[in-house]
Amino acid sequence: MKSENYRICSRCIMDTSDPEIYFDVNGVCNHCHRYDDLYESRVVKPEERESSLAKLVKDIKKAGKGKEYDCIIGVSGGVDSTYVAYFIKELGLNPLAVHFDNGWNSELAVKNIEKILDVLKIDLYTYVIDWDLFRDIQIAFLKSSTPDGEIPTDHAINALLFKEAEKRGIRYIINGMNFATESMAVRMWSYGHSDFKYIRDIYRKFGSNHNLKKYPHFSLLGLFMYTFIYRIKVVSILNYIAYDREKVMSILKEKLDWKYYGGKHYESVYTRFYQGYFLPVKFNIDKRRGHLSDLIHDRQISREESLRAIKEKPYNDESLLKEDIEFMLKKLGLNENSFEKILKEPPGTFLNFRNSEKQIIFLKNIVNKLRKNRIISK
Ligand SMILES: [Zn+2]
Repeated sequence: MKSENYRICSRCIMDTSDPEIYFDVNGVCNHCHRYDDLYESRVVKPEERESSLAKLVKDIKKAGKGKEYDCIIGVSGGVDSTYVAYFIKELGLNPLAVHFDNGWNSELAVKNIEKILDVLKIDLYTYVIDWDLFRDIQIAFLKSSTPDGEIPTDHAINALLFKEAEKRGIRYIINGMNFATESMAVRMWSYGHSDFKYIRDIYRKFGSNHNLKKYPHFSLLGLFMYTFIYRIKVVSILNYIAYDREKVMSILKEKLDWKYYGGKHYESVYTRFYQGYFLPVKFNIDKRRGHLSDLIHDRQISREESLRAIKEKPYNDESLLKEDIEFMLKKLGLNENSFEKILKEPPGTFLNFRNSEKQIIFLKNIVNKLRKNRIISK
């Protein structure tokens, strides 16, 4: 619903569905300014790409000398992580792939992962989480009435990557994030990737078995240790190239027989349900808005095109939506009444729970400063 206080940015399409958005005198929003501010420190300039990438590859190989693997990657079966696997093999690196199986991957995604890693001759380590525990965590997040129901997966993946890297003496984690088209950070839309205190608090309040030992996680001290003591570097390698998703998809299809799922991050049924239905309906959050705004910033799409695209329903297929909801309820063991109740509960945020936001911002600021001074990788 668009109220009388509704406002949309004059440059991108971010709007007051982010309750913390603010605008300058020209009607340009804070996300646009953030993009401009961080672009320089995150994205390698075209004329420096070749030499920066060569140096990075040299550093990774040097740090991995004599070890079984020189870097570690997370694989989901989606476009970005698949391309990272392909690309770093082309660069002559020797990665270990890690996959977090939370029980929601589409069959197609799992097939994609197996086939591709086989072709590329990359070893795979899969962590299958105890389903009863993970189910309980997911229900706790649904009941918490925060928009952060995908955080338990994100946090666990990061925890696994750090843990495996530390255990095997690997100094580089390479991820498929790229700043140019995935920079959007809206804390009221998604918070907690690195905040175990927050996850634990929600679980304590809404979970039923209260033991998170088997859930891969890291504390703030752990994050500090991984970053500054073990000096594990997290590199977003797609920031070193001109990353064109459309082009990349055709390379993957052609070279690896990779199959498309029909939506960004829709390799998981839960993600499709969560971003395509739960967030828009309960929280008025449409994550496509952030992504399209990034594409405007990166000049891959015009503002007019974005405005047209956002008008389309996130689920353009009603029968698929029905199927997904039924599947989700059955898998989680929720009945329709409890799901209705969850939908009707007034929306809240992470601020209603214990969290480590202040400390995490402090750590992140240090890392960003180091990046700006080129002490650590992009
Ligand atoms: Zn904007």
